[in-house]
Amino acid sequence: MDTYPSWLRVLEILPPHVVVVDDHGIICYVSGDVAALTGHQPDEIRGFDIRGWAPKWHLDADDDIGGTTYVRSNRLHDRRVLELRDRDANDRQVTAIFLPIALEGKAWIIAATIDEDATDARTFDVRVRDVEARLHAASVVAELEERFRHAFDDNMAPMMITDLDDRILSVNVAFCQMIGWTRDQLMGQDSTPFTFPEDLGISEVTHQRLTSEEVDRARYTKRYLHKDGRVVNVEISKSTARDVRGNKLYFVISERDVTEERMLSAQLSHQALHDPLTGLANRAVFEDRLSLAHARMRRTGGLGAVLLMDLDDFKGVNDVHGHLVGDQLLTAIAQRLELETRSSDTLCRFGGDEFLYLAEGLNSPDEADVLAVRLLEVLALPIAIAGTQLEVHASVGVVIWDGETVDHSEIVRNADSAMYEAKRRGKGHHVIFTPTLQQQAVSRFALTQELRKALTNGELAMHYQPIVNLATSHVVGFEALMRWQHPERGAIPPNVFISLAEQSDLIFELGALALRESVETASQWNSTYPNSGSPFITVNFSSRQFHSPDLVPGVVSSLMTSGLHPEKLVIEITESTTLLDVAETLSVIEQLSRLGIAIALDDFGTGYSSLSYLTLLHPKIIKIDQSFVSPPRASVHNDTLLETIISLGQKLNMTVLAEGIETEHQFNRLRELGCNLGQGYFFSRAVPKDEARRLVGVMLPTES
Ligand code: C2E
Ligand code: CA
Ligand code: CA
Repeated sequence: MDTYPSWLRVLEILPPHVVVVDDHGIICYVSGDVAALTGHQPDEIRGFDIRGWAPKWHLDADDDIGGTTYVRSNRLHDRRVLELRDRDANDRQVTAIFLPIALEGKAWIIAATIDEDATDARTFDVRVRDVEARLHAASVVAELEERFRHAFDDNMAPMMITDLDDRILSVNVAFCQMIGWTRDQLMGQDSTPFTFPEDLGISEVTHQRLTSEEVDRARYTKRYLHKDGRVVNVEISKSTARDVRGNKLYFVISERDVTEERMLSAQLSHQALHDPLTGLANRAVFEDRLSLAHARMRRTGGLGAVLLMDLDDFKGVNDVHGHLVGDQLLTAIAQRLELETRSSDTLCRFGGDEFLYLAEGLNSPDEADVLAVRLLEVLALPIAIAGTQLEVHASVGVVIWDGETVDHSEIVRNADSAMYEAKRRGKGHHVIFTPTLQQQAVSRFALTQELRKALTNGELAMHYQPIVNLATSHVVGFEALMRWQHPERGAIPPNVFISLAEQSDLIFELGALALRESVETASQWNSTYPNSGSPFITVNFSSRQFHSPDLVPGVVSSLMTSGLHPEKLVIEITESTTLLDVAETLSVIEQLSRLGIAIALDDFGTGYSSLSYLTLLHPKIIKIDQSFVSPPRASVHNDTLLETIISLGQKLNMTVLAEGIETEHQFNRLRELGCNLGQGYFFSRAVPKDEARRLVGVMLPTES
């Protein structure tokens, strides 16, 4: 490389006959034709003291030439004769014009030499003027260059100028700051030492493209390594500077630090693809992976499985312990599940308390079964959150599929059906999807349609199961239970159609029907048997119904139309209903009890049964679930539980009602324990309205 500064290349696009001498008298630049005048090659003169070539040259402080006065005034100097010594030590006279200019803080002098043969005064003047003009242009260019240099140095954008071998000729402050190197460390280097090792190839490829004439400008991105070890992402714009003849001179490189931008967009795309709470992949990722897996499976064969895990009673956790604990629980479960996730598989949060697991490359359906067990075992140990040990269960629906499976959405739908079936089988189960389940899903749909018709066709009716005072054996009340007599299928169990109705909005109409009919019936009994301790009626309210804003107005209007005394109405809700929104539940209970309506807590003992919670709700009646009253196998443990629940109710001043009494033995035992009320097949099943009317006040069981 030449020793003169890169910007001096600008002179190559200026006219011939140019010499540049710095203020120490060193020749910084000499054009080929001036050198040729004296038989030299430019390289033989460049970098040397001018006094070796022009012996009469003197740099005197008083001399204008090289003096700073000129540098500032920036005007053309007089024409002068300059004696140059040629190769054979002969001096040759040339006429020259001197132009002082300021560059890089130093005084530079550009001397234009005029051919000595130009003796003709007119020609000479023309040529001089020509050169003057050109030199003036040069000074303008130099000034521009100077401005450019300022723009370059002070530019916010990191910039550098490199030679055609990509070595740094000049670099600005912003660039130095960006990579933590000093200007001195960078000068003369190429970018290798501060390029991120994996990106070295990028620079080479671009350099080749730019030097092979293909293009004059390239844009690309690469990574640098900051002195402190940080990775810096840059967007680079590199362009070739050429002279008037089209020769390549150098490269001007302007860069942009896009590290933060990259990080932000990475964060954004992470957010788009991940669940913010657990950090797991989200639905979108899952669907993407599923279709990829599907395509792969079509090529390579093999089996895949999708497992849909849904936590049991997660809602309850949220409501009892608060959303913060609920969130922590989900995160903890996600972490445990992640540990069980094979690298080839995908785990994602599907929303709420649902997780999806996508497994690929299974050899047999059994492997999916094993996987489901493994995922459920993740919850075998309680999870400690905020000092509480939470026991969580989940239900898992499994779908096994292969390349033949056509519709992805069907896979998830089927996993959902299987999960639904698993839930029905109780907590902590998994079910593998089968076509039968699909049929069930289809028939569930059909049945819902029929239930809609049943409502208008009058196929739904209320039956009443007597409630007995265990001490006296008198029938004191009834539980209203809905019956569906399907014209073709016969009786459809309420467990089936009530849960169907709960999944659609039909539950509101069903609930309204139950309330209307029950209250109407109870009111009739009360007028028929005004003195026989008119019976109360208990009506089941499903969760969504209880939380509907129409609840209180609906109850009030049914009481008003029927004329039933509010104290004869008991509303049965289950614990999970009350957990849905504890604050709201309390306020509704409060409103109802102000009206004189009592609450019975149904299925007591099967839910969370937190004691502090029981005192908070303070239902008038607790209904001990049948599983305690007539368990599949009688045991001492169970008997103790029964005893505890009854004495608890008594202590809290609640009426205890035992459900599902089937034997005389159970009846006697409950009476002994001081249980207040009972119902069950031992006394009577739920019977139609007219039959029930005959049971009001009767002693049960009647001796047959
Ligand atoms: P539940 O509220 O726990 O009702 C008690 C269930 O136990 C009734 O079943 C009743 O027939 C049954 N049962 C009563 N005594 C005995 C017994 O000694 N042994 C046995 N094994 N079972 C006995 P059912 O009528 O099939 O109702 C099932 C569930 O359907 C009810 O459970 C309730 O949750 C729901 N349900 C019924 N009618 C309505 C209604 O009108 N509205 C709402 N929301 N839910 C209803
Ligand atoms: Ca009930
Ligand atoms: Ca019950």
